Amino acid sequence: MKAYDMENSAWARFSEEERIEVEEYNKTYKEFLDTARTERLAVKEIIRQAEAAGFRSIEDVTSLVPGDKIYWNQKGKSAILAVIGENPLTAGLKIVGSHIDSPRLDLKAAPVVENKKIVYLKTHYYGGLRKYQWVCMPLSLIGVVYTTAGEKIDIALGESPNDPVLFINDLLPHLAKDQSEKKLSEAIQGEMLMPMLGCNSTEEKTKPAILTLLKEKYGIEEEDFASAELEVVPTQKSRDAGLDHSMIMSYGHDDRVCSYASLAAILNAAKGSHTQVSLFADKEEIGSVGNTGVQSSFFLDFLAEMLALQGHTEDLSLRRTLRHSEVLSADVSAALDPIFADAYEEANSAKLGYGICICKYTGARGKSGSNDANAEFVSKIRQIFNTANVPWQTGELGKVDQGGGGTIAYIMADWGCEVVDCGVAMLSMHAPLEIVAKTDAYCGYLAYKAFFESK
Ligand code: MN
Ligand code: MN
Repeated sequence: MKAYDMENSAWARFSEEERIEVEEYNKTYKEFLDTARTERLAVKEIIRQAEAAGFRSIEDVTSLVPGDKIYWNQKGKSAILAVIGENPLTAGLKIVGSHIDSPRLDLKAAPVVENKKIVYLKTHYYGGLRKYQWVCMPLSLIGVVYTTAGEKIDIALGESPNDPVLFINDLLPHLAKDQSEKKLSEAIQGEMLMPMLGCNSTEEKTKPAILTLLKEKYGIEEEDFASAELEVVPTQKSRDAGLDHSMIMSYGHDDRVCSYASLAAILNAAKGSHTQVSLFADKEEIGSVGNTGVQSSFFLDFLAEMLALQGHTEDLSLRRTLRHSEVLSADVSAALDPIFADAYEEANSAKLGYGICICKYTGARGKSGSNDANAEFVSKIRQIFNTANVPWQTGELGKVDQGGGGTIAYIMADWGCEVVDCGVAMLSMHAPLEIVAKTDAYCGYLAYKAFFESK
């Protein structure tokens, strides 16, 4: 098979057996999508699968030898898995870094408001989303609330088939003359993204009745929303798309398509000479901030703890480990849609179904904010994929000066690691429901597995 081939899709290049594997892989990926609906649920599912495969919390181990499997749980919102290799850690790690947060609407601290006897939830959107896309669809409310007494309440409203759902209204076309003349970015504004929570009331006000329901159903008071993390996400679970079942439509492909590929790869990779590490990070969509984002110290703390378990507590060991480490920044990129050809530069756009996408640089306005990967490292990655028969392509995020974006790549490059962006190309990125090709999702798995197993 030609691993790089922009004339023939990955599907066309795969054998009958490989096509069956594509289907089987994507069945388990869809289960992951439908379970790991938020970063917290993703961490829970990742650690569940890791423990089932023999991984132990780093807090429960007292030494590390080749073959040991450990994990780190960063406040239930980020996770790291590692399989110890034959080489010392200072020889460098093979790291696949993905993120498990996705664009959504977060509830504000005082979210319950009433207007004309309709009760709404106030939200503040999270990540770069197009606000007009989030109206007129069933929405779920998922997350945690901590009560006055400090008790944790899990909420998953809309997730069971008999649950009610939330809904954000839009104007009917009959009355939308003025709205339709507004710019797309202004027709629906941030403060209008207010899911409706109820309108039944026998009293003068509706809100007290809704607060009573919240108390009965979840045991929470209005003040408890102050210490909550509640996310409004599309209720729709993953579905096959296309008559040929070639694609998956789902919430949260960015970046669960790469996260799941990284998880499946580290669980299935043959033991390597280098230590294999899967990082599943929170907060990428808002700049990798906070102590669960990649800009914080937790990843470096984890490496320092691993080194300490092998008797190396000196700072130089950590620096050597980082300097010799290689990272695939596993994040999605944009696939070309000819309907919007104007936004892309065709020769340098990834195509849906042509394999894992290597993105040498991201950024905006002259590569600003990008990790511009070293040619030497891209060469090494290209050879790994060619040798392992992993369909791959290159891609750049749209045409020059059209926009841009970033990943965690530049942060990990700041530590001295070799880093290149390498992820699945997709359509409708950051829309409530996004599209990936099943072959590309599977190529993500093949790519990360080949990278883990490489010298
Ligand atoms: Mn994103
Ligand atoms: Mn992403």
